[in-house]
Amino acid sequence: MSRGKEFFRGMTKTQLKEMIQGKIAEVDFGQEFESSIIADLIHQKHYHCAAQDLRPTRFRKLLRPGAVYDFQGYFPGHGWHGVSWTQCINPRDEMDWLDRALRDAAHPMISRYRAMHPVCERCKNNPSTEVDHVSPEFKVMVAQIIQTLTTSQIEEIFSRFDWLDKEPFSLPTGHSALQLLHDAHQTATLQALCKPCHVINGNERRRRTI
Ligand SMILES: [Zn+2]
Repeated sequence: MSRGKEFFRGMTKTQLKEMIQGKIAEVDFGQEFESSIIADLIHQKHYHCAAQDLRPTRFRKLLRPGAVYDFQGYFPGHGWHGVSWTQCINPRDEMDWLDRALRDAAHPMISRYRAMHPVCERCKNNPSTEVDHVSPEFKVMVAQIIQTLTTSQIEEIFSRFDWLDKEPFSLPTGHSALQLLHDAHQTATLQALCKPCHVINGNERRRRTI
């Protein structure tokens, strides 16, 4: 990775980290403070908050024996919750693998749905080529499943990961995450679409979340 690459608001990862560390160093333990840059960072880059559209409004650091501090954000409607700002800058790549593994695992369910709906459900004219997760969005579904996994479950999953394996990383058959994925698809609203309608759907979804 190049050292000078812009990451967020005109800053490199190193500059951003130093800026946030400086900001947090200024406040006392337990003292609430606001920071639009940390709030935006979490809202845009945190694997769970970005998917769930969560933006904390205030922050505080708490003493924790054996650690530098506990960092918490205040999430309207949810209260104080531990959130890692460093993970927004250097995300755990494992989460990307897990996301990919769940997408791959969902593929047969998606294909089945498309086969049952050969005509676009939006324009009712063209053959369907894609399937959208209308509700919940797939990234939300994945975030919800990942949230149910404990740290040791996640560690167990990745203890199986082998960089040299030619096959894409997958979860073992019968894994609880796969069961949750299957269950989530029983109640999810899917829509089989042609390519143009798929693009329109995507644009509408983006407009709604602005
Ligand atoms: Zn269509």
